[in-house]
Amino acid sequence: MSDVFETLKAIVGPKGFSEDPAEIAPHLEEWRSKYKGRSSLLLKPASTQEVSAVITVCCQTHTPVVPQGGNTGLVGGQIPFENEILLSLSRLNRIRNIDARDASMVVEAGVVLAAAQAAADEKNLMVALSLASEGTTTIGGLISTNAGGVNVLRYGMMREQVLGLEVVLADGRVLDLLRTLRKDNTGYDLKQVFIGAEGTLGIVTAGAIKLFPRPAQRATAYAAVPDVPSAVALLARLQEDTNGLLNAFELMSRSGLELVLAHIPGVKDPLSSPSPWYVLCEASGPVGIDAAFQKALETALDDGIATDVAIASSETQHQELWKLRESMSEAQKLEGPSLKHDVSVPLSAAAAFIETAIAAVTTALPSARPVPFGHLGDGNLNLNFQMARGGNTAHNLARCDEIQQIVHDIVHDYGGSFSAEHGVGVMKREALRRYKSATEVDLMRTLKHTLDPKNILNPGKLVPD
Ligand SMILES: Cc1cc2nc3c(=O)[nH]c(=O)nc-3n(C[C@H](O)[C@H](O)[C@H](O)COP(=O)(O)OP(=O)(O)OC[C@H]3O[C@@H](n4cnc5c(N)ncnc54)[C@H](O)[C@@H]3O)c2cc1C
Repeated sequence: MSDVFETLKAIVGPKGFSEDPAEIAPHLEEWRSKYKGRSSLLLKPASTQEVSAVITVCCQTHTPVVPQGGNTGLVGGQIPFENEILLSLSRLNRIRNIDARDASMVVEAGVVLAAAQAAADEKNLMVALSLASEGTTTIGGLISTNAGGVNVLRYGMMREQVLGLEVVLADGRVLDLLRTLRKDNTGYDLKQVFIGAEGTLGIVTAGAIKLFPRPAQRATAYAAVPDVPSAVALLARLQEDTNGLLNAFELMSRSGLELVLAHIPGVKDPLSSPSPWYVLCEASGPVGIDAAFQKALETALDDGIATDVAIASSETQHQELWKLRESMSEAQKLEGPSLKHDVSVPLSAAAAFIETAIAAVTTALPSARPVPFGHLGDGNLNLNFQMARGGNTAHNLARCDEIQQIVHDIVHDYGGSFSAEHGVGVMKREALRRYKSATEVDLMRTLKHTLDPKNILNPGKLVPD
């Protein structure tokens, strides 16, 4: 192995590797400290050619590699568990091109989402994707997990934002699909195979991403709603009255808001009296969208769909409202251990699903405190459960798999998905085997074996053995 390491280190040069445990350590633990891995060599290639040369050697020597972007993934996909080489794409950080006429940008895998957003903004254009981890998450990671976020309702997930890709294959060849065409109907759309593949089929080195006109006006509101069916009704009302210009529709429970108020400095409850549920919603579009949005909310108040509303009247207020929603994961982390479920169900089933799943989990584990929230506009719910403070947490967490299966079985019964947007990684491999058909799993294995016959790309992730 030491000869292989020397060859790989020579490819990337002195700035492109580390064997220092202190430098490697932050890459081995994920955001929630749920997974901890090990790796003796961190490689940081600076170009597609270097990635290609690295993977060529790894292929020839059967050396496994785990690709990593911003290390914000929530299913353990970016963590090397078996002392694999850790391949950080962070030095592939150039914005290669922005073309306002094509409304597209070509960015390397290690570019952080916030940097891509800022570069588009300078050209008066917009990257549609937005999520709470955008200050750290990278374009390569977003593509490889087919990430979602808060604007999926209007713009779709990452899969719908990608026009082209550059990928290093498992044998080291570079597959150049970096086209910015909106129409290219020439057979299999190969880029789709690598989107959401979690680094198991190829290393994404660059992507061509769609850009959108920056909306002239944006209207944001925080509404109290009596129950989940009312939230679903409010969504339909707002979509109709804004002509489909709603871009975000986020559900929060009172229990979640209370954790945010308790743990996040500088936030306050925007409404004077408590409500069991809240919705953070946003519409954007031409001048006048704010009036249509406000009128729709007033009608919702008259009809009792909403019981109170705070509308942002400045950029500061907009930020304050969004901070409540975006701090939800952080607040739960600060509160203590929790069981998390990133699932989706048809919107029509959202209310029944939440009720059924909470009843089932709290029957199985009475100390679990439900903290549901999520991108309700997409039917995506984070059905999380906080563990009792000072209780027998170790025992409760040990029951994690059992509780997860209870929730996922109910999701399945409602025609939903056990992973709405975070992917599969190591966390949900067993669920994939349980809920996907044997034919689907078999085809996934065939694809993996065809594209990575030596199983060197992120082994042990996503595809069940
Ligand atoms: C606070 C918080 C909020 C979040 N909110 C959301 C949300 O709203 N919606 C959502 O979808 N996700 C969310 N996430 C999850 C996470 O941000 C996304 O999964 C993101 O896409 C991961 O990007 P990354 O660069 O950090 O990738 P990493 O975590 O480094 O990697 C993720 C996966 O992609 C693979 N990978 C990374 N780069 C490459 C590459 N260049 N080529 C091939 N494979 C690669 C890794 O091997 C791994 O399997 C959130 C995470 C946090 C911490």
